[in-house]
Amino acid sequence: MMTRQEAIDLFRSDDLIGIGMAADGVRRKLHPHGIVSYIIDRNINYTNFCTEFCSFCAFYRPMGHAEGYIHSKEVIFDKIQETIDLGGTGILMQGGLHPELKIEWYEDLLRSIKERFGDKIWNHCFSAPEIVNIAEVSGLTLRDTIERLRDAGLQSIPGGGAEILDNDVRRRISRLKSSTQDWIDVHRTAHALGMRTTATMMFGCGETVEQRMNHFDIVRRIQEETGGFTAFIPWSFQRENTSLGRFVKEEATGVEYLKTLAISRLYLENILNIQSSWVTPGLKTCQVGLRFGGNDVGSIMIEENVVSAAGAHHQATEEELRRLIRDAGFIPKQRDTLYRTYFLN
Ligand code: SF4
Repeated sequence: MMTRQEAIDLFRSDDLIGIGMAADGVRRKLHPHGIVSYIIDRNINYTNFCTEFCSFCAFYRPMGHAEGYIHSKEVIFDKIQETIDLGGTGILMQGGLHPELKIEWYEDLLRSIKERFGDKIWNHCFSAPEIVNIAEVSGLTLRDTIERLRDAGLQSIPGGGAEILDNDVRRRISRLKSSTQDWIDVHRTAHALGMRTTATMMFGCGETVEQRMNHFDIVRRIQEETGGFTAFIPWSFQRENTSLGRFVKEEATGVEYLKTLAISRLYLENILNIQSSWVTPGLKTCQVGLRFGGNDVGSIMIEENVVSAAGAHHQATEEELRRLIRDAGFIPKQRDTLYRTYFLN
C-alpha cells in the first residue's frame, strides 16, 4: 500500500499524467471489465432548518426563518414515486440539524416509506452530523439511535458531513458541527451493526496537503478494520453564495480535482469504488476522471438543493451520462446504492 509520504509527494508533483496512469492501473486491477456505474436516485432534503451555520453552506435557514421548511410525508412520497417512475432505485435523504425533531419523527418517516414502497426504494439517509443530532435531541446513545433507525427502515448511511476530517479545518469552516471523532463513531458503529456507508471528502476549502492526508488516513484505517465503506467520493468546495467563499478566494481547479481523485484511488486501494463526480467539477472533468481512477459517476440527481444553492449548476440526463461513459471507452451500467450492477440493465 502507498505510504503517506508517497501520497504527499504526489500532491506536490506536477506529473499529472503519470499520477493519472498509476491510478488508472489500480482502477483496472479492481474493475477489470471496464464497467463504469451510475445510479438513478434522488436527493430529498426533508428540512432546511438548521442550527449549525456552516460557513460553506448556502442551503440552511435558521429556525423561524420564512424560507425554512419541513417536508410533509405526502411531499416526500410524491418525490419517491417520481424517482421510481424514472427508473430510480433509492433516495439520499438528508437535511439540516433540526433542534426539535426527535427520533420518533424519523422512525415514523422511514417506516411509512417502507410500508408504502417496500423494496422498490433504498433508504440511504442521514449524514453523521444528523445522526449525532438525532441522538442528542432524543437523549440516546449513537448505537441505539442507529439501531432504531435501521429497524425502522434505514438501509445505509451517506458520508456527508465529513468535509475534511481534521479538527483544525473543521473548527475553521463549521465551528458548531460535530467533530471528526463523531463522524468516525457514526461510521464505525454503523459498520459494526452490519450497515454499509460511503466516505466523502470536501476539499479545496483552504486545507493543507497534510490535513487532506489526515482525512485519507482516517478513512483508510476504518476500512482496514471494518470493510464497511462501499465507496469514496471526493468533491471540491463551491464558494458561490457561501460565507466561507469570501475567505477562500479560489476554488479547486480541474487539475487539482483530477490529482486528488487519482491519489484517492492510489491511497485507498482497500475501497472498491471511487466516484468521479460531475456535479461540482462538471461533466467533462468527470469524464476525464474515469482515466484518473474513477469507476463510477454517481447519480443522475433528480434533485440536489444543497450543492446547487452553493452555485453548482451542472445537470445531466441518464442518456448523457451513458454517452459520456461510452465515449471514454467504458461500458455504462446502472447500479444500486450498494454499487451492485448485476441485476439492472
Ligand atoms: S452543511 Fe448541514 S449542518 Fe452545516 S449549515 Fe448546512 S445544513 Fe446545517
